[in-house]
Amino acid sequence: MTQTITVIRGDGIGPEIMDATLHVLDSMNLGLQYEFADAGLVALEKHGELLPQATLDSIRKNRIALKSPLTTPVGEGFSSINVELRKRFDLYANVRPAKSFPNTKSRFADGVDLITVRENTEGAYIGEGQALSEDGETAVLTQKVTRRGSERIVRYAFELARRTGRKKVTVVHKANILKSTSGLFLKTARAVAAEYPDIECNEMIVDNTCMQLVMRPEQFDIIVTTNLFGDIISDLCAGLVGGLGLAPGANIGADAAIFEAVHGTAPDIAGQGKANPCALLLGAAQMLDHLGECEKAERLRAAIVATLEAKDSLTPDLGGTGNTMSFAKAIASRI
Ligand code: NAD
Repeated sequence: MTQTITVIRGDGIGPEIMDATLHVLDSMNLGLQYEFADAGLVALEKHGELLPQATLDSIRKNRIALKSPLTTPVGEGFSSINVELRKRFDLYANVRPAKSFPNTKSRFADGVDLITVRENTEGAYIGEGQALSEDGETAVLTQKVTRRGSERIVRYAFELARRTGRKKVTVVHKANILKSTSGLFLKTARAVAAEYPDIECNEMIVDNTCMQLVMRPEQFDIIVTTNLFGDIISDLCAGLVGGLGLAPGANIGADAAIFEAVHGTAPDIAGQGKANPCALLLGAAQMLDHLGECEKAERLRAAIVATLEAKDSLTPDLGGTGNTMSFAKAIASRI
């Protein structure tokens, strides 16, 4: 593989977990080249802007970015740099795996291995039609679902299933009540599913999905759903399997994809070597899947699991006495 990726080291614990992640990736001899670019507070200090044009150009050119968390200072123009990146590159698919890991404090130490594919650009989050009546008694909001938006997210979910050898896609909706928006999503999903006879497809109403996830999460493989439902469900799933330190996410568009940890910059532990690098490492594994290197992605995940099983050099959030780099070195030694 010869591939250049844009690397954003980010703010807070960002540089620490990125150095650890690149150490592990380097140990895999993947042939990846890194192009470093700034965003967030560090970019504001160096270049006077939070999201410099050079960073956008780098992502546009390389089409793949690995990104640490960023601080968006209050009152600096953007509500969130991450949301801005999603908009700039039309990153329509938010992809969040949730997998049980050994020796973590979680509800399910075994049996969960699912991916939530959330539509990232439509639904209740378009920011249109938000209004409050003059007397402050009535609020309204517009939701928008399009056939095109639904089709591309559902197709993404089925293609992901094929590419990663997953067997089932669950379409999550509320078409019984939200007949127009969820109805169009479900109808479109059925049409796409018919093109993938090799992948099992079922439909589930969102409230039942939440209960089923808590009771029997092992029944799920890939979940595909609209923006608001996906936002809630993906956090629920992260909570099932051990929370922030182990939750990666990807934002995928037709022309670019950005891979990251779900957690933030953790200012309370920044600069102390305490940060768990696993979420960003798992984001890097998603990146390898995306690049078609599924076997290498699996090797990386297996090395993380083996290190957790051995309780070797784990960071304090996992009950260990190691640090960010010792944990990364323990993982690299098991690749
Ligand atoms: P946070 O995720 O940074 O921290 C929440 C708690 O989890 C803290 O106690 C922290 O120490 C801990 N934690 C987080 N990641 C960890 C890791 N890898 N290892 C060990 N412990 C970890 O959330 P927050 O405090 O709400 O946000 C802090 C900052 O991060 C804010 O400026 C916010 O805007 C930003 N943020 C950025 C992103 C992103 O860039 N993707 C996402 C969320 C928050």
